Amino acid sequence: MARRPMMAANWKMNKLIREAEEYVKELLPKISSAEGVDVAIFAPFTSLLEVVRATRETPVLAGAQNFYYEDSGAFTGEVSAPMIEDVGAGAVIVGHSERREIFGETDDVVARKAARAVSAGLLPIVCVGETKEERDAGSMWEKVSGQVRVVFERVDAGGIRGEEIVFAYEPVWAIGTGETATPEDAQDAIGRIRGLLGEIGGESFAEQVRILYGGSIKPGNVDDIIAKEDVDGGLVGGASLEAASFAELVNGAAPDSSGGG
Ligand code: PEP
Repeated sequence: MARRPMMAANWKMNKLIREAEEYVKELLPKISSAEGVDVAIFAPFTSLLEVVRATRETPVLAGAQNFYYEDSGAFTGEVSAPMIEDVGAGAVIVGHSERREIFGETDDVVARKAARAVSAGLLPIVCVGETKEERDAGSMWEKVSGQVRVVFERVDAGGIRGEEIVFAYEPVWAIGTGETATPEDAQDAIGRIRGLLGEIGGESFAEQVRILYGGSIKPGNVDDIIAKEDVDGGLVGGASLEAASFAELVNGAAPDSSGGG
């Protein structure tokens, strides 16, 4: 069965509650005819409840951008999987490069978060990707494959369905820079990730897992990337902040549009 494409908005540290409400109100009619594509909005904790409320009874999935893998306790400033579920959100970004690089999240922490999200029934979008230096040094695959492998030290690939986890290949040099991977580079990395998932969890598992591309996606460059066979959609930062441009991306990713891959 073909994988269902996904277009996901990562608002990062943007939008007040009122702005979140206005955004969803503007977005929903603009994407009402987009069939066959999953849409997710990853909001800051402060506006997450508003996004849940505004998207209730709609196919749009509300998600958090981060959480901590313990369920409760002395972890000042953190939010747990049960708290995210309590709000009514259904997904969470795990291991975004900004969390890894600015907030020092290690591969092991990312793996623990991925495992806890899965066991809590939250859909994790696990981000992996190399820096510019790593790419230039020819070690892209060493970095990315290591990040993927370590997730499965905590997540039992044999014990879950491929639909229960999503990966996002996000080359760090392309995030927020305006520099996008070529469609061929995105396919190369994502195809290799799928191959590795096959080694780890078997062919049918690998065929079910969605792998998104992220890194300066915008309406003008997305079609050729998501048309690639292993690219199942996008995780979008900057171009998701305006409802109109995110709607364009969602509509372009729908399989019956010319862009959907
Ligand atoms: C992201 O934050 O995941 C991202 C890909 O950002 P941008 O689209 O702005 O590069």
